[in-house]
Amino acid sequence: MQELELLRQIRQPWVQRSPQTLARAVNIREDLRNQLEQFFDRMEVSLETGTYSWMDPILSAWAEALPQSESPEMSSSLVDFIGDLLLFTVKVCEETLKPEYSVAITSGLLPIFLYCFRRAFEMEMEIRIRAISEQLQQVQQTLEKLDQSKSDFIAVAAHELKTPLTLVDGYAAMLRDALSTRNLSPYEIDLLNGIHNGTRRLKTIIDDMIDVSLIDNNLLSLNFQPVWINRILHVLENELQGVIKERQQTLTIQDFPGSGEMTFGDPERLLQVFRNVLTNAIKYTPDGGSISVDGRKLPGFIEVIIKDTGIGIDPEDQLLIFDKFARLGKTDLHSSSKTKFKGGGPGLGLHIAKGIVEAHGGAIWVESPGFDEKTCPGSTFHILLPLMTQPPDEKMARLLAPLTHKPAKKPLLGSRQP
Ligand code: ADP
Repeated sequence: MQELELLRQIRQPWVQRSPQTLARAVNIREDLRNQLEQFFDRMEVSLETGTYSWMDPILSAWAEALPQSESPEMSSSLVDFIGDLLLFTVKVCEETLKPEYSVAITSGLLPIFLYCFRRAFEMEMEIRIRAISEQLQQVQQTLEKLDQSKSDFIAVAAHELKTPLTLVDGYAAMLRDALSTRNLSPYEIDLLNGIHNGTRRLKTIIDDMIDVSLIDNNLLSLNFQPVWINRILHVLENELQGVIKERQQTLTIQDFPGSGEMTFGDPERLLQVFRNVLTNAIKYTPDGGSISVDGRKLPGFIEVIIKDTGIGIDPEDQLLIFDKFARLGKTDLHSSSKTKFKGGGPGLGLHIAKGIVEAHGGAIWVESPGFDEKTCPGSTFHILLPLMTQPPDEKMARLLAPLTHKPAKKPLLGSRQP
């Protein structure tokens, strides 16, 4: 007897009993009955034509429906459901047909079921991946919103704090002036210095918070001017001399190819970048350690390399430290000084440095064998800046044209003009 004929023979018991056997809840039985009948019809056509893709529409309808139906009605996985269907079909064949016919139709249906398994698996995967990426997208949107509120909070807090701080600073300066004629005791001088240092530190933090909100909102505007990297580095060498001496460290700044060439950049902002990286190098290097600044000229770029013999940074933290408020848990911070060994900070310095370098079209990254306070493997910060022969701003380019264009050669005496 032909396989198709055999299949038709099991149709009635199959269609009649399948909903009861396969459905686990009463309320969807009618709906499922229709779907199972459709499945059977498509099995018939597939067997007749040898084209198994006839099974696709019903499989895809089930694949879409299953994740929403929380398992009580049917198996929660389509692959499991196809497995249940196969077992049920074999059982019906065995009960309805003679053994040899039952074997014949079962082996005839097997390739169809194998196809169904493969497609069910693929469809389920696709749907799960889609659901997971939707969830991830939602999480990302939530994170972006949170990050935005954090930036908004920083901007508002910084501006709100700035006004009273300016007042305190002003009154403190007036008090200092008013008391300057009197002979103050060392204790009174200490009090005045305390107010002065406190307000200065607070001002730096607030300025950093404002810079972070400018960077995060893409509002950082650069004032491009001619700059020489070696000059910036030497300004910092002088500025940090006192601290370096206090910490008994050595700071060596090499002039390297390209460092003496004129390029365009925002000198104040670049000073801030190198200051942040260098003060970190001082801060995270024990007393007596050394810090060196070197670099190289690359096609179109200049790379400044700042190396310290400090506590180092673990590879998994080397990207993290450029996030705002990044303070690594491992660093056991001792004080809130900007330059004392492991003196804590708000964790904004490198985020700002990255924002400024990237606004210049450059990049900043760190290399370190890892974190170890005992062996001090050190860290090496790389700052890559484009060598610009022209400022990006057109007006500025026109204004600074005499600096950027070499004067045309004078005609030789006596040579005739064309
Ligand atoms: P902070 O105000 O905490 O210094 P930064 O943004 O400047 O903030 O640095 C973030 C974190 O990166 C620091 O808390 C520290 O853990 C780590 N870090 C930065 N520079 C170095 C360095 N040269 N050596 C070791 N760790 C460093």
